[in-house]
Amino acid sequence: MVEHGLQSVAFPTLDETQIRELAQCTAAAPKLFRDRQTLFAVGERDFKFFIIKSGEVEILDYSGDEPKVLVVHRKGEFTGDISHLTGLPSVVSAIARGDCEVYEISPDRLKRALNQCPGISDIILQAFIARRQLLRESPDFVGLRVIGSRYSQDTFRIRDFLTKNRALFTWVDVETDPQVDRLLKEFGITEADTPVVACGHMLLLRNPSNEKLADAIGIHRPLDHKVYDLLVVGAGPAGLAAAVYAASEGLQTAVLDGTAPGGQAGSSMRIENYLGFPTGITGTDLAGRAILQANKFGARLSVPTAATRLEFQNGYAIVPVNGGEPIAAKCLLIATGAEYRRLDVKGCEQFEGRGVYYAATPAEAKLCQGGQVLVVGGGNSAGQAAVFLAEHVRQVLLLIRGDDLNKNMSSYLVRRIEQTGNIELLRNTTVRQMDGDGHLSSVEIVDSRTGQQRKVETPAVFSFIGASPRTDWLPGEIERDEKGFVRTGATAGQSSHWTAARTPFLLETSRPGVFAAGDVRAGSVKRVASAVGEGAMAVQFVHEYLKQM
Ligand SMILES: Cc1cc2nc3c(=O)[nH]c(=O)nc-3n(C[C@H](O)[C@H](O)[C@H](O)COP(=O)(O)OP(=O)(O)OC[C@H]3O[C@@H](n4cnc5c(N)ncnc54)[C@H](O)[C@@H]3O)c2cc1C
Repeated sequence: MVEHGLQSVAFPTLDETQIRELAQCTAAAPKLFRDRQTLFAVGERDFKFFIIKSGEVEILDYSGDEPKVLVVHRKGEFTGDISHLTGLPSVVSAIARGDCEVYEISPDRLKRALNQCPGISDIILQAFIARRQLLRESPDFVGLRVIGSRYSQDTFRIRDFLTKNRALFTWVDVETDPQVDRLLKEFGITEADTPVVACGHMLLLRNPSNEKLADAIGIHRPLDHKVYDLLVVGAGPAGLAAAVYAASEGLQTAVLDGTAPGGQAGSSMRIENYLGFPTGITGTDLAGRAILQANKFGARLSVPTAATRLEFQNGYAIVPVNGGEPIAAKCLLIATGAEYRRLDVKGCEQFEGRGVYYAATPAEAKLCQGGQVLVVGGGNSAGQAAVFLAEHVRQVLLLIRGDDLNKNMSSYLVRRIEQTGNIELLRNTTVRQMDGDGHLSSVEIVDSRTGQQRKVETPAVFSFIGASPRTDWLPGEIERDEKGFVRTGATAGQSSHWTAARTPFLLETSRPGVFAAGDVRAGSVKRVASAVGEGAMAVQFVHEYLKQM
């Protein structure tokens, strides 16, 4: 969408009939705000939604060096953005410009209206999504500031965590950014204190853990203490699909994720084989939309909340989590997916976040612009990474262990690689050694057929090899195959742990009422579409199980 089109979607004007319908649907009454009175403030959670009846409301950004008016809402326009659905704190403030009259609507009533008034719901939801996109793309909106070095593992971790959680932030690289000296002076710190996270003129945290950062900026939402119908562990495509279907079908649904919603798909720069997106969609966009959908239907999402164990009490699944109370549910869906294995190369671990990466997104691309990089792996994710990186770096060396790229990669990607001039395919090649002083600077690669070695100067190796299932939190009674993937259906029914008289449902594990979907499941097809399909299907079996309970 062109900028102008996006602006008009972001800031529509409701007509009198639409305003009346929305006011009736939410039982909203007009309310007066005096000049300079605050309607909601940056950082406020569960803030109200306002439709302007008369007068003007300024939307202000306090995150930069000076407060800035982003937009002025007038008669028939409305405030708000996706935070109303995600439950995250507001990123801007709203102040009356002169006396104004508004309809004030609570977030719960707004959510209900979004489900009950489809015509207006479309306009509001599209406006919320477009407003966030405009903020994200605006060169003037600062959001949080992360000040840290490109060579620091913690700076990388913080940026990675904020990116995956779709937080609005600006990275100030202490190695290159001209603002660094001024900012360090303003916050009264030195380079040795970095990485730090700041907002406007306030220094928030010094080198926070992901959990502390999530608490401080309001990303972390703990779950209520009640028994859910369905607890979904893992918010990748499988978990998010299950959440959308379960919540929309009236099940009390909670979803938790140890890092961020989106899973592996969230780090894909272009998913081209998912139905309905002929020009492709980024994993972040797909996940962002799924999160809104799950929230709209009332699913409760909690991040970063990792399941550490699985226990059973009185027929309920009990999931202890990091830093919080255990969560109880009648049914559980294991949707914890898989993650790429570390390269079996000496020194690999010390360069993680400082030259060794497991995703290729703009965040990583920024670190190696113009250089020569290595991508290791022969699957679709390696292919996508190579094509994406080729747009940002001088040259990509794509290393595969075998000699046929077609073996594990879709042919559309193989073709694209062949057509991209700055990707060089190195068959039968592996990484042997990594070197650098603090940050990766060179690797030694070897041709397994000839034994010939070669040293490559590079700031980055992107690894996409052999995904392993994330099942270390599961007890022995959840039967797994020799590689650790969770067995379901008839094979799970053969387990000595299976106690029910019936055979397990197709996606049920060796424990009745516990299901598995997506990449974590033995025999699953490792694709976004199949993970989404399995997540949706699992909900059908949850209904069946609950009926028999
Ligand atoms: C870079 C890349 C590009 C890809 N491109 C494509 C593509 O173009 N087309 C395609 O079809 N497929 C693609 N794939 C594959 C696709 O992304 C996966 O098949 C899909 O994401 C699997 O979904 P899932 O929900 O099963 O698991 P995942 O996506 O792996 O999600 C699992 C989630 O569980 C969370 N989790 C793990 N352990 C715990 C725990 N103990 N507690 C709480 N949460 C936990 C993780 O943080 C993660 O968010 C790509 C994969 C990658 C990595």
